[in-house]
Amino acid sequence: MNYDVIIIGAGSMGMAAGYYLSKSGKRTLLLDSFNPPHNKGSHHGDTRIIRYAYGEGEEYVPFILKAHELWNDLEKASGKQLFTQTGVLNVGKEESAFIQNIISSAKSYSLPLDVMDASAVHDRWSSITLPDDFIGCFEPTSGVLKSEEIIKAYRELAELNSATILTNSRVKDISIRDDSVTIKTDEQTYYSDKLVITAGAWSGDLLSMVDLDLPLTAVRKTFAWFDANETFYNHNNFPAFAFDTVQGTYYGFPSIEGSGLKVGRHDGGNPIRPDDSLVDFGEMAEDEGDLARFLTQYIPNISQLKYGKTCMYTHTPDDKFIIDLHPKYSNVAIAAGFSGHGFKFSSAVGQALSNLIISGKNDVDISQFSINRFRD
Ligand SMILES: Cc1cc2nc3c(=O)[nH]c(=O)nc-3n(C[C@H](O)[C@H](O)[C@H](O)COP(=O)(O)OP(=O)(O)OC[C@H]3O[C@@H](n4cnc5c(N)ncnc54)[C@H](O)[C@@H]3O)c2cc1C
Repeated sequence: MNYDVIIIGAGSMGMAAGYYLSKSGKRTLLLDSFNPPHNKGSHHGDTRIIRYAYGEGEEYVPFILKAHELWNDLEKASGKQLFTQTGVLNVGKEESAFIQNIISSAKSYSLPLDVMDASAVHDRWSSITLPDDFIGCFEPTSGVLKSEEIIKAYRELAELNSATILTNSRVKDISIRDDSVTIKTDEQTYYSDKLVITAGAWSGDLLSMVDLDLPLTAVRKTFAWFDANETFYNHNNFPAFAFDTVQGTYYGFPSIEGSGLKVGRHDGGNPIRPDDSLVDFGEMAEDEGDLARFLTQYIPNISQLKYGKTCMYTHTPDDKFIIDLHPKYSNVAIAAGFSGHGFKFSSAVGQALSNLIISGKNDVDISQFSINRFRD
């Protein structure tokens, strides 16, 4: 059978693209090395933060507002609650670029944001202690997405739209002609008119099969859950958070359904080859110590580790995403390099990939994510 579109990688971005393409009536095949959602890539660990006043730059705001609209659509289409409005508290020195971007994004796009000094933060959440020169920017409308439940929801809806999803099917070879694509796994060969590549941490390997060498680096990341008193840290009275500190950038989640407080570090991490098995949480000297030091300084009543996990980020040099058509083949669309902050956008990325591959353009401007910025 010849498909209209094959998608390689049915994770965060690929499964969303599969939903939108199949919804448009395209005969769609999704191939994944594992059985998504799974714990081998970048989407596991239950939850991801969504923020709209964007610390990484005001230029992301139209795209995240589109994603927000599409998350609402997904909740309606699936009948599932996939977003919890906990609010997100962003913290740092007033002059930090992250904090300044949040304040200017909120102003430019009229987003609700409570800006408070360190003592006002402590008055509101008594378990948080900040240095005097820090401020807090609380965005009440933001919150937490259920990442694995979202991938399941897109998968179920894509299958209802007659998409074919083949799991445990690792792609080993790709050949492209102007109007046709041939894909090989160990067992089978598949044919289509068009191709979408959304292979997460494995993107470098897949893109090299289509003559594209992009500056992508996969790194090992850790995150962990700590025992937390529900009176203070339950999601009804404690926000998700992002702290920009001198020691590093840390983020976390309130206790949701008794999970405990989840904390991770955003910056840093050791470069890895995604096929090498990830060293488990706790096997590297600083896995627990780094998170514990952050907690001791800023949220000091939390200390007892429940358990931790490891996951991967895929960085570009500027930590901006890549969402574009292949420079040589207009029948190939690519989304990669989400640099540890892509999940919140995945609904809009899926729709953009579907639009790009069908019509060559997207309704929200995504030119900032073009491949051209890495070519001279
Ligand atoms: C610990 C952690 C915390 C994060 N927190 C946040 C957050 O709070 N907010 C936020 O917005 N983002 C966050 N992110 C980032 C976000 O989760 C990622 O940007 C996003 O999941 C990347 O999606 P992806 O589709 O590129 O990768 P994935 O979801 O990993 O999907 C890639 C898929 O491709 C498949 N694949 C690869 N190679 C092949 C092949 N050869 N053949 C077939 N299939 C293949 C893989 O099996 C996988 O399923 C976090 C990431 C991590 C690791």
